[in-house]
Amino acid sequence: MDLDLSPGELAFRDEARAWLAANVPADPLPSMDTSPGWRAHQEWEARLAADRWSVVSWPEEFHGRDASLVEWVVFEEEYYRAGAPGRVSQNGIFLLAPIIFGHGNPEQQRRWLPTMATGEQIWAQCWSEPEAGSDLASLSSTARRDDERGGWVLNGQKTWSSRAPFADWGFGLFRSDPDAQRKHDGLTYFCFPLDAAGITVRPIAQLDGEPGFAEVFFEDVFVPDADVLGAPGDGWRVAMSTAGNERGLSLRSPGRFCAAADRLVDLYAATRTSSATERVVDAWIRAEAYRLYTWGTVTRLADGGEMGAAGSVNKVWWSELDVALHETALDLLGPEAEVAGPWLDGYLFSLSGPIYAGTNEIQRNIIAERVLGLPREAKGARA
Ligand SMILES: Cc1cc2nc3c(=O)[nH]c(=O)nc-3n(C[C@H](O)[C@H](O)[C@H](O)COP(=O)(O)OP(=O)(O)OC[C@H]3O[C@@H](n4cnc5c(N)ncnc54)[C@H](O)[C@@H]3O)c2cc1C
Repeated sequence: MDLDLSPGELAFRDEARAWLAANVPADPLPSMDTSPGWRAHQEWEARLAADRWSVVSWPEEFHGRDASLVEWVVFEEEYYRAGAPGRVSQNGIFLLAPIIFGHGNPEQQRRWLPTMATGEQIWAQCWSEPEAGSDLASLSSTARRDDERGGWVLNGQKTWSSRAPFADWGFGLFRSDPDAQRKHDGLTYFCFPLDAAGITVRPIAQLDGEPGFAEVFFEDVFVPDADVLGAPGDGWRVAMSTAGNERGLSLRSPGRFCAAADRLVDLYAATRTSSATERVVDAWIRAEAYRLYTWGTVTRLADGGEMGAAGSVNKVWWSELDVALHETALDLLGPEAEVAGPWLDGYLFSLSGPIYAGTNEIQRNIIAERVLGLPREAKGARA
């Protein structure tokens, strides 16, 4: 693995750094889980898009820069180092877009990708259901064929859909063949406007009280064939290509944690709480190790390899690292940690990392069985 950047990649870093230095808002934007914060984040997405920094790895015809995977990681490092705002468009650009590129037809690509890139349309991931989170394939929301109208009729309920209270469109899986032999079969992947007739979005408050996610109810919602992603009945395979992205790379690039580790070191220098030296150093090393591991992943992918089950290693790593970074910061702050601020907000959010994108218990099972080749747990062994 060659960790030296080429002259082109170094120039790309410089260009990104200069643009961010000139454009990142001086003050943090309000939480994207509030109406003013939502608008401010959408404006930021539009600003990024105007100079083609919103989706650097996409083709130029869709607002991108055709950047390589290495350049994308470089951009992310610069983005977080500059303290730029969180990406309100992340479900769309990081989770759904790779599927639209891989499984969507040209008409769908033209219709959905440009407005996703500019932040005009924000997407919500509607996968989880009240009885189907870790065991996603046991979902029970249905899609009934309607030949007369040329589409499908959706019924059921999704839950924990991040950003759905303010988002424009959703994507999710529905059971389109109730007679399928296996629960992973007979599922279809749909896209739908969240203001469609029959859809009700009911916000759910997070730990901080803001409506960070929502339950989404479907009552005879008509979706035309044009909004089916991939082949009907092939939804599981389509969905799994997103899960690998979400856990493994695109959702949590190392730049975010390296920037947090650097801020932790600054905080330590300001507070000089000597009893925490070891933990600060430990957290910083873990962030740096995650960065190097990710460069290994990027090299493997650039050489034609696949993310596969190894994405679960990244998932466990970044989520536990995020908790450690924030817990250490709160200890450094002492009683001041109780006062609202970025470390407290970040800590509350970090607690959800081991849950979303697939819980860490499940990720450890995947690592044990599919990465390490350990024997499968006997049925009923888990208490
Ligand atoms: C902040 C946040 C944002 C989210 N955003 C979204 C979103 O945008 N869209 C969306 O669709 N979903 C979203 N989710 C939902 C998330 O994906 C689910 O919460 C997660 O998959 C776990 O499912 P569950 O809540 O049903 O828990 P369960 O599946 O009921 O799990 C409960 C516990 O049992 C453990 N467990 C279950 N099965 C096993 C097993 N076989 N072996 C070992 N342990 C097991 C789990 O690890 C967990 O600790 C979000 C969740 C959070 C916290």
